[in-house]
Amino acid sequence: MEKLYLVIPCYNEEAVLDETRKRLDKKMKDLIKKKKIHKDSRVVFVNDGSKDKTWEKICQYHEEDSLFSGINLSRNRGHQNALLAGLMTVMNDADMVISMDADLQDDIEVIDQFVDEYYSGHDVVYGVRSSRKTDTFFKRNTALAFYKMMERLGVQIVYNHADYRLLSKRALKALSEFKEVNLFLRGLVPLVGFSSTTVTYERAERFAGESKYPLKKMLSFAFDGITSFSIKPIRFILFLGLFIFLCSFIILIYALVRYFQGAVILGWTSLIVSIWALGGLQLFAIGIIGEYIGKVYMESKARPRFIIESYLK
Ligand code: UDP
Ligand code: MG
Repeated sequence: MEKLYLVIPCYNEEAVLDETRKRLDKKMKDLIKKKKIHKDSRVVFVNDGSKDKTWEKICQYHEEDSLFSGINLSRNRGHQNALLAGLMTVMNDADMVISMDADLQDDIEVIDQFVDEYYSGHDVVYGVRSSRKTDTFFKRNTALAFYKMMERLGVQIVYNHADYRLLSKRALKALSEFKEVNLFLRGLVPLVGFSSTTVTYERAERFAGESKYPLKKMLSFAFDGITSFSIKPIRFILFLGLFIFLCSFIILIYALVRYFQGAVILGWTSLIVSIWALGGLQLFAIGIIGEYIGKVYMESKARPRFIIESYLK
């Protein structure tokens, strides 16, 4: 029997935590009773610098029941970093780890299937949403556009898979070799390789509290995903620049023809339009390149990706 660790990043989740604890308690004890997982399995809550009573609650769960452990980060670092902190901390104790959100939008009933797939030899099991019925029209369509774009840009990610997944100890060790600071875990895990499979589930609505991913965070997350995994946008700018340079030859010929026709005073309109268009394009291009330079800058510092204040083992 192998040890299963659940890793759950929590940011201001006091409204959902009691219910989450109750459901996971039942699920884990059930799995232990069915002898599917080792009795020393754990549920590990990672407190990502919450401002509410989240950490107090985690401490209390830990005192009442050794099934629950907690990791307290020194400050808020965002979902991806909190998740990584949890994964890297439990890596040596666990045989397999499942990452999930605190609001239990991901159906915990499929944990059984995750574990079964692990025993049948898979190192990575991706949880994939069967539909996006519970999402708003806006979120559903922007998510779809995002996956499509990632595919075009040559980034390998699993369609409709968020961060609900099982990783074996071996896969975790391999993941720990990826040192990048700009974290986009769902892009990294496919790069780890090993045998993988998917399990589909129905995603529910958040049962309490509100989303910690407002539009602004979502957009910057998507943008990070693209620029951390694909250099195609830069190449696109290169070709665009070349194309515009070639166009300027045509413009030159046109200008000469007009000159010999004696109509030089004409052309103010085209001039002003080109100044704005080219100026805008150049700024846009510099901006994209700047974005990548920014990434290089952050990576070159190699700052710690998370700092742990305490660990209730
Ligand atoms: N989260 C976190 N740090 C943050 C933001 C979110 O650890 O800075 C956690 C949050 O507590 C939750 C998970 O990340 O467990 C996913 O967040 P949420 O459910 O709000 O996102 P959504 O499901 O709306 O995309
Ligand atoms: Mg959620």
